[in-house]
This record gives sequence, C-alpha cells and structure tokens, in this order.
Amino acid sequence: MKQVDGDKLLAELGEGVKDIRGKLTPNAPMDRVTWFRAGGLAELMFQPHDVDDLVAFLKILPEHVPLTVVGVGSNLLVRDGGIRGVVLRLSAKGFGDVELAGDNRIRAGAICPDKNIAAMALDNSIGGFAFYYGIPGSIGGALMMNAGANGTETKDRVVEIEAVDRKGNRVTLSNADMHYSYRKSHAPEGLIFTHATFQGHPEDKAAIRAEMDAVRHHRETVQPVREKTGGSTFKNPEGHSAWKLIDEAGCRGLQIGGAQMSPLHCNFMINIGHATGYDLESLGEMVRRNVFEHAGIVLEWEIKRLGEFIPGAEVARFTA
Ligand SMILES: Cc1cc2nc3c(=O)[nH]c(=O)nc-3n(C[C@H](O)[C@H](O)[C@H](O)COP(=O)(O)OP(=O)(O)OC[C@H]3O[C@@H](n4cnc5c(N)ncnc54)[C@H](O)[C@@H]3O)c2cc1C
Repeated sequence: MKQVDGDKLLAELGEGVKDIRGKLTPNAPMDRVTWFRAGGLAELMFQPHDVDDLVAFLKILPEHVPLTVVGVGSNLLVRDGGIRGVVLRLSAKGFGDVELAGDNRIRAGAICPDKNIAAMALDNSIGGFAFYYGIPGSIGGALMMNAGANGTETKDRVVEIEAVDRKGNRVTLSNADMHYSYRKSHAPEGLIFTHATFQGHPEDKAAIRAEMDAVRHHRETVQPVREKTGGSTFKNPEGHSAWKLIDEAGCRGLQIGGAQMSPLHCNFMINIGHATGYDLESLGEMVRRNVFEHAGIVLEWEIKRLGEFIPGAEVARFTA
C-alpha cells in the first residue's frame, strides 16, 4: 500500500519547479539509498544541482512541507510507510568535491565520502584523517553524527561549516556552534550542511599509510563491513560497551524476519535477506528490552530512524 503521493506534492510546488535544475523524483524508493537496503518511499526526492539550486528550491518549498536531509544512508533505518514531504539528497556533482584549503586544511562538499578526505590527506602528507578511511558515510552525515573512530571524532578536525537554512539563507558555523557530544551535534534545527573545512597537521606519508592499513585491517576483521548494515546500532552507554551488554543478554545472532544482530559484531544489525524496516526496528527494540532486563541499562539508538509505520504494523518503543 502506497502511503505517500509524490506526484500530488510535485504539483503543489507549482510553476516554480521549472527553474529548478536538480532532479525531482516522486515516490523514490529509499531501499536504494540506505545501506540496510530496506524501507519505504520518499514522497518526493530532490537532488539539487548546486548550492544556488538548493537555495532556489527552498524558496519555493511551502513551509508546511516536511524536509528530511539524508547523506549516503549508512546510519539510517527508514520505516516501511515511507517519508512524507521532501527527502533531500545532495548530488555528487554539486556537493562531492574535495580540495586543499591551505595550511594543512581540507575543504569538502557534504556528500563527499569520508574516505576521500582520508585519501586526499594521504596524498598531501596531512595527518589526522586516517579515522575517516573506515567510516562509510558522507561528510554531511559525519558533521551531523560527530562520526568518529580510533580515538578521533569529527569535532576534533572541523573548523568551519557552510550550511543553508530551511528558508534558503546561507549560514556559516564554527566548531563551537555545533555543540558536539558523543555521536551527536546540537546545531540549530533544520540546517542543511553543504561544505566543511577541516584542519590537519603535517605528517609522514608512510606513517599515514600504516595507520590507514591498520584501520582497514581492524574493520575487516571485527565488523561485518560487507553486509547490509547501518553500523553500530546503539551508542555505548557511559562506562560500558554496547556490544558486550548485547552479548551478555544473549542477543548475538538474535533474529526477527530478515533482520539479525550480527554474529560477528553483535552491535551491528544486518539485513540477511529481505528484512523490512519493521523487522529491523522490532529487533532493535527487542534487544533494548533484553539488555534492560539483563543489566538494567537502557540502550540508546545510534541509528537514525526515519519515516512512518504502515498502519497496523507499528513498532512499540521499549521504555524501562
Ligand atoms: C559498516 C559501517 C561502519 C560504520 N562505522 C562507523 C564508525 O566507525 N564511526 C561512526 O561514527 N559511524 C560509523 N558508521 C555509521 C555512519 O557511517 C556514520 O554515522 C556516518 O557519518 C553517516 O553518514 P551518512 O552520509 O551515511 O549519513 P546518513 O546515514 O544518510 O544520515 C545520518 C544523519 O545525518 C544527517 N545528514 C546527512 N547529511 C546531512 C547534511 N548534508 N546536512 C544535514 N544533515 C545531514 C541525516 O539527516 C541523518 O540525521 C558505520 C556505518 C556502517 C554501515
């Protein structure tokens, strides 16, 4: 059953869309976007050509239409009823660039893969970016999630962020404006990050290469990186490892429909066949319940859950 009507929404935007250069796709399947390869339709997907095109689109988008920004979907669980309103996905052409910005700085577009920054840093003997080599998301997702690994987080490197607000105004933010904490930013609501500048330091190429090799080797050994997954499902509670709590609660390998807690890394949820958003979210909530019953700790989702349930197939949120 289709719950969203992208053609109707497109018609609602009126004549103004004629001047928009980016791609508008009504009823776009989100299972092609998310790493889980699951989820319903985006009512209307918009992929702006560049920043000017994004600004022009926001100026014609009625205020009441919800707007959801996505990166490359490596941290997203989309529900089966789809996402109402506009889903904004930046185009690689307009937002995928990465360039040197002088003084060991790198500037990148928000849909640039994290690993491209690591690669540019290596080529130019700039240290501090090897951690991005193993994170499969985009810079926009990294800015929002304060993505991090191997002891370094986005907040340790970002200097300045260029963004556009819901009304189409251009905004510049400092690191402090993002109010970063563990896997979280507290930037003003509704901003669309378009570019960011990062600070590194001079470092020997061979040392950077060795660090990147270690990052890759570690991931390939302990994480199901070739599976359909969203990475860590839950944040590590203060003083605990989420995977350990999940393991001790007997949830390693636990399965609902096509969704499973990975036998290799049990804080990674994986789609082992044809998992729906319902399967994945139900499994996550079951794990939260089991961990609470076993250890008295409430796990907090790290994965962002977006969209609507299909009526009659809602997943109840576990509350302690
Ligand atoms: C195999 C695997 C391993 C992983 N390992 C790690 C890891 O080690 N460390 C880690 O931190 N994460 C890890 N992740 C999770 C994920 O890669 C990161 O959270 C990443 O930063 C998400 O980026 P994305 O482009 O996929 O964002 P998405 O998943 O598409 O979106 C995530 C959030 O960012 C917001 N967002 C995205 N782009 C923008 C933008 N331009 N403007 C405003 N908001 C935006 C979205 O609205 C959403 O709230 C892993 C995931 C996988 C699948």
